[in-house]
Amino acid sequence: MPSYDAIVIGGGTNGLAAAGRLAKAGRKVLVLEQAAVAGGGATTKDFAKGYKVSAVAHLLNLLDPRVEQGLDLKSHGLEFAATNLSTTALSPTGDYLILKGNYGETIAGTLSDADRASWAELRQKLMRFAAVLRPFKAMAPPRLGKGVGNEMMKLAGLGLKIRGLGRDDLREFMRLMLINVADVLDDELQDDRLKGAIAFDTVLGAHLGPRSPNSLLLLFNRLAGEALSIPKGGMGSVATAMSKAVQALGVEIRLNAWVQSITIADDKATGVTLKNGETLSAKTIISAINPKTTFLDLVGPRHLDTGMVSRAGNILMRGNAVKLHLALKGTPNFKGVDLKTRLVIAPSVRAVEDAFNPVKYGEFSENPVMEIVIPSAFEEGFAPKGHHVLSAIVQYAPIAMDTKARAAFLKRIMATLESYAPGIGKLVVKSELLTPEDLEKQYGFVGGNWHHGELAAEQMLFLRPFIGAAQYETAIPGLWLAGAGSHPGGGISSAAGWNAAERILKGKGRR
Ligand SMILES: Cc1cc2nc3c(=O)[nH]c(=O)nc-3n(C[C@H](O)[C@H](O)[C@H](O)COP(=O)(O)OP(=O)(O)OC[C@H]3O[C@@H](n4cnc5c(N)ncnc54)[C@H](O)[C@@H]3O)c2cc1C
Repeated sequence: MPSYDAIVIGGGTNGLAAAGRLAKAGRKVLVLEQAAVAGGGATTKDFAKGYKVSAVAHLLNLLDPRVEQGLDLKSHGLEFAATNLSTTALSPTGDYLILKGNYGETIAGTLSDADRASWAELRQKLMRFAAVLRPFKAMAPPRLGKGVGNEMMKLAGLGLKIRGLGRDDLREFMRLMLINVADVLDDELQDDRLKGAIAFDTVLGAHLGPRSPNSLLLLFNRLAGEALSIPKGGMGSVATAMSKAVQALGVEIRLNAWVQSITIADDKATGVTLKNGETLSAKTIISAINPKTTFLDLVGPRHLDTGMVSRAGNILMRGNAVKLHLALKGTPNFKGVDLKTRLVIAPSVRAVEDAFNPVKYGEFSENPVMEIVIPSAFEEGFAPKGHHVLSAIVQYAPIAMDTKARAAFLKRIMATLESYAPGIGKLVVKSELLTPEDLEKQYGFVGGNWHHGELAAEQMLFLRPFIGAAQYETAIPGLWLAGAGSHPGGGISSAAGWNAAERILKGKGRR
């Protein structure tokens, strides 16, 4: 007899959300997490004596309101050190722009009147289009094909929402879905700092440059979230609040529990085996880890037909973001910039595209672009008094980097930082660079990709992670997917986990 109704593999924010949603419906759920803490991409860690940092993700804007409210994360301790965070688009000359409010509602700094007016119009348009797509994050993608009944109504629903935009907007929406962000920015704006920051935001976490086709889809995905915020205590606090919330609902979370394989008996998923040899069983097995790892390593090709093996193997998972942590023995000076903002080094669209080009050929950017947060500027406890900690997401680096390449890339990053914050190098007491390979090894981000599968037009909606597994259910009865590799993708969002649980509860299984 199964001991649990459901076993969730992976205690990241998607796994916790799936567990919480099922437990709310009275299911007995066990979460198995290989690490010593739950959270996956949402963890806070000590990285040097006296210094701590959000280990992977460092900003929040995509957290699904169903999860935040449904698990009542506030009452389980989730608080914010900053909300509605501004972005400073840095300039090497010190002439920076500050995009305030939810994605540049107002802009402070020297900007022409023409650009101010064009940006206000463009921003409104982008926000309007992103809002149309928002509801689709909170549902399973429709199934295509004969005999799927009201599944097609969902597509019709999307169509209606888009049509509701009106004729002109509709044309514009279709145009923007197909072209790239660089062309849009060049059409509408002049200012390099503004265009650079938006181009950077569009390609953040993606294997794309601003001139790559369909890049604007990713900006819509980002804008479908909320304004940026920083949880008190770093991103780990999101997972801590989620863990407390789901435990209060009766979920059991086992840490240091590495799932080695999924048990398949009579072609059904019936349980899991841990690395220590222990076996556990349940009626429903939910994998909230990478889909490629799920199918190829945990299930194994012998239980899959050849089509599934190749579809799982072919999921695109290129990731080129690097995480940099610096322990600083003083206050960095970004030429007078307010450190209580998010800092972006992406001086122009061209700079972002030039940074992307080498990685196509397996090389790192000579002049990297990056997003910087100084958590110690917002809250005490991240660094000793008078010291600071810097957390940056830097692009672009290839997955394969030997020791020499890592050292050379760090040198290029530090040289870039030095031109925006002169003297920063002398403040560094410890640095940590997590390359895509490190992120794969330490956190399971295969290929270093932060969505557990590229969020590209060909891997979205009913194509995510691939046809036949896009509605969270897999071809193996009893096995479900619930991680970022499923719709609607990654970020500290939990939407995939919540959607998967809803689908399980509705008994939507095909078989
Ligand atoms: C460098 C980088 C920076 C990022 N920055 C941001 C950001 O600022 N904001 C944002 O919103 N998003 C950011 N992201 C994306 C975000 O971290 C991920 O999309 C998100 O963590 C995905 O959540 P998840 O729960 O699906 O998977 P994960 O967070 O990866 O969780 C999966 C969990 O499963 C566990 N696990 C894996 N294999 C096993 C196994 N065999 N047995 C048991 N447990 C297992 C892992 O330890 C992990 O805890 C970033 C990603 C990267 C790589």
